[in-house]
Amino acid sequence: MTTQPTGPVPWANRLNKVLNQFHDVHGGDRFPVNVENLILEVPSAFQTGEPVTVQGQAMDPEFEGALFNLNAGQGSKGNWAIIYNRAIASPGRIRFTLAHELGHYLVHRHLHGEFNCSEADTLHWESPERQMENQANEFASYLLMPRPDFEAQINSAAINLDVLGGCADRYGVSLTAAILKWLEFTSTRAVLVMSRNSQVQWARGSESGKWLAITMNKKQADGQRKRIPPGCATELQSGSNVDRQGTEIDARIWFANEPSGMTLREMRVISDQYRQTMSLLVMPPEVKPWDREEPQDDEGVENTYDRFIRNGQYPVR
Ligand SMILES: [Zn+2]
Repeated sequence: MTTQPTGPVPWANRLNKVLNQFHDVHGGDRFPVNVENLILEVPSAFQTGEPVTVQGQAMDPEFEGALFNLNAGQGSKGNWAIIYNRAIASPGRIRFTLAHELGHYLVHRHLHGEFNCSEADTLHWESPERQMENQANEFASYLLMPRPDFEAQINSAAINLDVLGGCADRYGVSLTAAILKWLEFTSTRAVLVMSRNSQVQWARGSESGKWLAITMNKKQADGQRKRIPPGCATELQSGSNVDRQGTEIDARIWFANEPSGMTLREMRVISDQYRQTMSLLVMPPEVKPWDREEPQDDEGVENTYDRFIRNGQYPVR
């Protein structure tokens, strides 16, 4: 018997290899992944000896999905069932949830007999105590959006919500899931801020934008979450629910410590799906305080601004 992967990413890569081989031989659409079919194939393909079924049920809107062992407590091999919430209108969200539950089956079924997963489990990635939920999300993300393919889609395109929305369509996932995937590998300094009624719910940054996300996730002295800044485009343009290309604004409106003259590009979508507003902020590379030139005279701000352009640091339009 060949050794099987253990972690979420190796498992996703193994399944992608199988799906690529099948696609090379039989053709058809490689994406989006038909997760339901894949789940039914997994026990025999990997000889787990533990069958798994999939069933949709109309349930409470906060509930996304579950995996549980019908043989729990019987000491025998597992007999597993995945339940997903049929009342969720978004096929992308259901696909992600099914992949998440498959991740629990492959990576965690030896540890627990039951996994009940809520919207918070499949969307919030920030909580270190929810390691198994984060791993199931990681598995789902790598299975549905393999990085080499995602990178090929983005190529050298200037990032905007049309480009990322095209990826969401290709992989059959929500725009949020596609943006989180992009943030995982991009070298661009960027941060996604999710807010509800102008209050930050959570933020996630790219590698070079992680401090921006930490700033946004930091709670205020009163324990409340921060509010998004009053002067940002999301607040000023709240009458329209989408800005896919983005608006250039002074970076200091969001992040007071950024240098004068720096602008960021703020894109925005109001998501009915999660009753939240997403603001995607794309920034020029960081300029350390000791590398900044203090304005010498009246033209100082303009000089700083010119310097950004000269250094090729102007944000991509
Ligand atoms: Zn879960």
